[in-house]
Amino acid sequence: MQNLEENFWQKIHLYKDISNEQWQDWKWQIANRITSLNELKQIIPIKNEEDFLKISEIFHFGTTPYYISLINPNDENDPILKQILPDIKEIDEKYQEGAFLDPFLEDVKSPVPGLTHRYPDRVLFRATNFCSVYCRHCMRKRMFLEDERARTKEEYDAMFEYIRNNKSIKEVLISGGDPLTLPNKKIEYILKNLYEISHIDVIRIGSRELVVNPYRFYDEKLLQLFEKYDKVWLITHFNHPNEITSETKKAVKNILSTGTPVLNQTVLLKGINDSKETIENLMRDLLKVKIKPYYLFQCDPTKGVYHFRTPLEVGLEIMEYLRGRLSGLGIPTFAVDLLGGLGKVPVLPNYIIEKNEDYIVFRNYENKTVKVKI
Ligand SMILES: *Cc1c(COP(=O)(O)O)cnc(C)c1O
Ligand code: SF4
Repeated sequence: MQNLEENFWQKIHLYKDISNEQWQDWKWQIANRITSLNELKQIIPIKNEEDFLKISEIFHFGTTPYYISLINPNDENDPILKQILPDIKEIDEKYQEGAFLDPFLEDVKSPVPGLTHRYPDRVLFRATNFCSVYCRHCMRKRMFLEDERARTKEEYDAMFEYIRNNKSIKEVLISGGDPLTLPNKKIEYILKNLYEISHIDVIRIGSRELVVNPYRFYDEKLLQLFEKYDKVWLITHFNHPNEITSETKKAVKNILSTGTPVLNQTVLLKGINDSKETIENLMRDLLKVKIKPYYLFQCDPTKGVYHFRTPLEVGLEIMEYLRGRLSGLGIPTFAVDLLGGLGKVPVLPNYIIEKNEDYIVFRNYENKTVKVKI
């Protein structure tokens, strides 16, 4: 967790004259995103400018001023820097073997453009392909190749129509891109339409704004929408303890005050968070700000992302380490999303050592065993 000082951004030369009001305005954060090498260089030393230009031309680059202000500019291995800085490995053929642009066939298992219907009771609703930060490890990196745009009202209407006609759908997962980068009016249009479908119980918003632009949740109007359309759950995406700050805490407090639960999905990323201690600290810090860890994912076999993948054992060892050491509230489900759109499967260390018709031998986190009659 990073404790930020008052006006912490003014230490960065580029932001020395930025007032509290500007900095804490989510729209200012998005309007002043850093998207070019020239701006980036003023904040962080860039070693290989040619590589930066070459890669960012293919998979575009962008960050909010807030998110980049959390980086230690003197550390080239900074875990936040590594999530935003283009790396030549993204286009190096060596790292593309076994990787796919759309590993989960989201665009194939799609009854209407923008919707993916993989499980009977839930549907994925991609509202926009725009993000205020482009994470290098994004599982939907294929959308970096498209022009940035939100879907049109007509596209949304076709998506609502499909959901309205399929009563088995109980939950809509609004994702993107980042849906909370949309203006409130558009968000209200989506929430209102989904809320009015009586078989929809849960509207899950998947957004990274809490991580990269917590000021989004200082916006009264958005908070009112969450309160009004009260089927909303927020799922966010913190990957490292350095991303959790005093601003996060304030933002989460605002969200919880609307009756909206906040959960988190983390992706295991090589060289960023693939250690037991980092994940333990992350989960502890999430609990401190009242976010419930939901999933810990094996990094997906997506083109341009493969160099972040860790062996499955790394995740299993982390899960083994967490159990017994950390409150059950802080333990996420470790999961792998299966190729070909087969869905997510949980993966656990094995706690059953022996099993037959009469008894089971269990082990606990300390490797003590006990025989239990069935
Ligand atoms: C991940 C995902 C979901 C949600 O799965 P949960 O296990 O409920 O979090 C739904 N649809 C698609 C297409 C997904 O990729
Ligand atoms: S915010 Fe989410 S959708 Fe956008 S680039 Fe990051 S991981 Fe991908």
